[in-house]
Amino acid sequence: PTPAGQPDVLVVGGGIGGLSTAYALSRQGLRVRVLEQAPEYGEVGAGLQIAPNCTRILAEYGLLDEAKSLGVVPENMVMRDALDSQVLTRLDLRDLERRYGFPYMVIHRSDLHGIFLRACRRAGVELLNDQVVVGYENTEGAARVLLKDGRVESAPLVIAADGLHSVARRQLIGDDVVSSSYVAYRAAVPIEQVKDNGIAENDVTVYVGPHRHFVQYALRGGDMFNQVAVFESPKALAGEEDWGTPDELDAAFVGSCDTVIKGIPLMWRDRWWRMFDRDPIETWVHGRIALLGDAAHPPLQYMAQGAIMAIEDGWVLAQHYARLAEAAPAGTEPDWDGALAAYEAVRVEHCRRVQTTARAWGELWHLDGESRLQRNAIMRARDADDYTFTDWVYGPTALTPDEEPEMFTPIPLSSAAVEDRAA
Ligand code: FAD
Repeated sequence: PTPAGQPDVLVVGGGIGGLSTAYALSRQGLRVRVLEQAPEYGEVGAGLQIAPNCTRILAEYGLLDEAKSLGVVPENMVMRDALDSQVLTRLDLRDLERRYGFPYMVIHRSDLHGIFLRACRRAGVELLNDQVVVGYENTEGAARVLLKDGRVESAPLVIAADGLHSVARRQLIGDDVVSSSYVAYRAAVPIEQVKDNGIAENDVTVYVGPHRHFVQYALRGGDMFNQVAVFESPKALAGEEDWGTPDELDAAFVGSCDTVIKGIPLMWRDRWWRMFDRDPIETWVHGRIALLGDAAHPPLQYMAQGAIMAIEDGWVLAQHYARLAEAAPAGTEPDWDGALAAYEAVRVEHCRRVQTTARAWGELWHLDGESRLQRNAIMRARDADDYTFTDWVYGPTALTPDEEPEMFTPIPLSSAAVEDRAA
């Protein structure tokens, strides 16, 4: 057994990935300690879309009703052309809920984070702050982390859920983040401020256009309105350090349709998010140190699955732990190596698919010229009840590679997009 005072699991990072995993493992009777570098637990940003593959897990955790009471269940997801506002395709989210058994919803990021934080507190997870982890090391049947103040913490399992700029990833893999040259501006404003902007209050609307896109949906029971403006930064393409600045925001959306143009002045201008991902990697588990969430598989956000994948990671790991614990003779040590191998066997491939599809999705959304018109024609021809693009993502989270559904083959758009840009 783990020595007194030492947790069974150390989780580094108290974002949505770290907290949801801590909660999932504590439900299995494990003692979990979370080490978060910030002085307080919290989230920055605005809205988050959570698809049925996530709400299914929230329901299992008994947290879906709370999420619904804080968020919004929209009626449709509509994709429009950002220049002429024409509808390209639409998903009826009520049908979607019937198909997958769980809702597609939107929620403020800090509300979802708060739900997991409160659940962790109720479950007795130890939540520590001001814990800056600077190094990781495997030991015999355990692992330890080194903190900036010189202290060392150890446990049979260490989960690195320390985000896009993960220290663990730097130490264990050593790769770099990949810049997309795109930047996101966000805003959540009282809904009164946008009532006359031609918005669809009950829908998630995505306007896709040349080198830009714009997302809108209501939040917090419909009292707030969330907007995300994303564009390709000319300064980033020119190799300048200071890219993605507000002057670029205004220039990038010139020529967009009325609703988008009216939305731009409302964007927060004191903070912006440069869009990075990383190339997929195959090894997330190093002895008793496991990468999870953005530390393992940061995507571009075009599939709106980043936080969801992190939540799925924790659920899958906890499920495998529980299965192995149940099969083991009483009094034996938990089979962490088995659980970690099973986790890696299924999650690496699923998340690789999401990461690479998100990149292709971004290219498709941002097409210009002739390619844009071709895309629009293909999208308009999609049947409203064609779920080819959602089944492999929104269905039940696979626990084994056999359960992972077949995936559609993304159309290789890279060369078209590149030619387009050059023209
Ligand atoms: P993070 O949220 O980055 O958390 C990491 C935590 O670790 C932080 O609290 C940090 O302080 C802590 N930490 C870091 N380093 C250390 C250290 N050395 N020691 C101790 N603690 C440390 N996802 C969706 O599912 N749906 C969406 O609609 C969606 N929209 C998005 C829109 C935008 C514009 C962006 C940028 C992202 C979006 N995402 C979305 C992705 C999602 O936000 C991320 O994938 C998700 O938040 C990752 O969670 P995480 O816990 O792995 O990492």
